[in-house]
Amino acid sequence: MGDYNIAIDGPAGAGKSSVAQQVAKSLHMTYVDTGAMYRALALLALEIQCDLESEEQLVQLLTASTITLKHDEHGQRVIANGKDVTEEIRSQLVSRHASTVAKHPRVRQLMVEKQREMARDGHVVMDGRDIGTRVLPNACCKIFLTASVEERARRRYEQLLAKGEKPSYQEIYQEIQVRDQRDRERAASPLIQADDAILIDTTAFTLEEVVSQIIAHYQQKVGQE
Ligand code: C5P
Repeated sequence: MGDYNIAIDGPAGAGKSSVAQQVAKSLHMTYVDTGAMYRALALLALEIQCDLESEEQLVQLLTASTITLKHDEHGQRVIANGKDVTEEIRSQLVSRHASTVAKHPRVRQLMVEKQREMARDGHVVMDGRDIGTRVLPNACCKIFLTASVEERARRRYEQLLAKGEKPSYQEIYQEIQVRDQRDRERAASPLIQADDAILIDTTAFTLEEVVSQIIAHYQQKVGQE
């Protein structure tokens, strides 16, 4: 058994952030959404028209920037170079480019260092793609969340509808597939299930059911200490 951190990984739209937030709230832990950091870098890069294929340019930008996750009773806020970008980083444009930014090994190395620092106290619920395999290999509880592509696209479609947008289901479906492929096939820390993670397919479960399963697994792990 390692520390008391919980690592939640899985593909886009599997429900990681809603689940992780609920788990963190129930267990009085801090929720850390690592995807937000890659999104913030993509946003900064798009703003200055940095070449997203250039690791060199992205590393320079990341080193010269401050990307901070702030936690309060309302959840996580994302601050990039002093500006609150919490909402802006959720746009379709940023979603599309975050996985390109995230494929560069040196960008990932810098992000991983920051993420480990945030988890140092040992009481975070952290979600992403490489948390159980790379960022927090000693996390006491590792979860890999999946759901069918159709279900993930449907959830995303409904979220956007609820926000008053006019999404196209087909476009969302395709974007999810492209992102999955990029995340699974990249050379640096690809999206894979850690050997000691438990797999939960959320397609047929409610949020509450998934949260209960994770809390039960966590308590069992902590009880084994
Ligand atoms: O989780 P979210 O969809 O917000 O993440 C945006 C993108 O950031 C992902 O598609 C993935 O390419 C990248 N990411 C990553 N490693 C993480 C978290 C996110 O590569 N730990």
